[in-house]
Amino acid sequence: MPFNIKSPNTKKNGLSTNPGQAPKNGNGNGHAGYKAQGGKPKYLTRLDQIPQLSEAEKVTLEKVNEKFIFRSNEYYQSLIDWNDPNDPIRRIVVPDAQELDEWGILDASNEEKYTKVRGLEHKYTSTALLLVNEVCAAYCRFCFRKRLFMNENDEVTKDVSEGLKYIQEHKEVNNVLLTGGDPLIMSTSKLEPIIQKLRQVEHVQIIRIGTKIPAFNPFRIINDPSLLKMIETYSTAEKKIYIMAHFNHPRELTAEAIKGLNLLMKAGAIIVNQTPIIRGVNDDHKVLAELFARLSFIGVPPYYVFLCRPTLGNEPYYVPVERGYQLFEFARINCSGLGKRARLVMSHETGKVEVVGMTETQIFFKYIRAVEAENFQKFLVFNRNPEAYWFDDYEEAKEELALHNLFHPSLATNG
Ligand code: SF4
Repeated sequence: MPFNIKSPNTKKNGLSTNPGQAPKNGNGNGHAGYKAQGGKPKYLTRLDQIPQLSEAEKVTLEKVNEKFIFRSNEYYQSLIDWNDPNDPIRRIVVPDAQELDEWGILDASNEEKYTKVRGLEHKYTSTALLLVNEVCAAYCRFCFRKRLFMNENDEVTKDVSEGLKYIQEHKEVNNVLLTGGDPLIMSTSKLEPIIQKLRQVEHVQIIRIGTKIPAFNPFRIINDPSLLKMIETYSTAEKKIYIMAHFNHPRELTAEAIKGLNLLMKAGAIIVNQTPIIRGVNDDHKVLAELFARLSFIGVPPYYVFLCRPTLGNEPYYVPVERGYQLFEFARINCSGLGKRARLVMSHETGKVEVVGMTETQIFFKYIRAVEAENFQKFLVFNRNPEAYWFDDYEEAKEELALHNLFHPSLATNG
């Protein structure tokens, strides 16, 4: 069966450069040299702050905004090509009427199940997630944590002392991911004490910061020397700070964004990139190829590529599993080994499931992280289902090979 790699949902792919080529001006789009007043782009929280939307669009999208809140900023808005109604940057932040379609559930990976104390999730033995806030520099329409931005949310607390105590008491936790929301939206003076306390915990080796600030607002990095000083202090020769960046489209890699990334790297952070495959944003193998290539040129390896979780309101953004796999593999054909280090995964309730291959009739998955020992590194074979958008849509494994059938379970102590 030939692969169908057309992108039916986008009229164009939003690229202005040849895939795999860095743009000459380091900018990558028509972004007209945005200048942040006072070094800080103004945040936008109302749709009437977007003059390019028609009155009719504002009325329709306001209904979406009432359910799933809108937030952006002037810098990020300046990346949008308003002549293109399908502009990928626009799709990342501007609401879509279809978000109101009943589809998906709010907590699609059942994060609640792994919440041990308020603001702390512990799913895999060695990794803890500390949710340090519930705000981002803009809100991605496809966010899987949109529940945190809703009024009734009480999963996050500004006081992370209970979470820190939990980490201190759990010696098996050797890496901590600061997430939210976006940790870098916080002032350095609020973030630094958390990092300092984590560094005092001997068994915590790696601190990760999950952030879309380098894409949404690179001025937060460029104009805050104290942030860079903090990275310099706490990303040591033996224990690094990792920045888990979140670029979805190569046009987000502006000159300012690249400058922000380089400042973080110079300060001693290790940066990798994660992105979901999002319909109308990067569900085009040329777009993904350019994203992977340009990230690798900058020195930011593509890490995980996610298939979108079936989160409430995200119907307009999901890409079926098998189409996602095809796009992913085609994108990597012409990438160097450095550009093709990404792995295509689903963050499922039971673990991180990688899509590792496909034939005409079957698809192959592997747990690369698992909650239960019986799933550690388990390899699974299913009959193909082109409609499937999530792991649960594959109902019965045709074959499976669990690591603990080959080795004694005591060899695999860490999911
Ligand atoms: S930056 Fe991350 S947490 Fe924030 S809205 Fe986007 S996907 Fe969600």
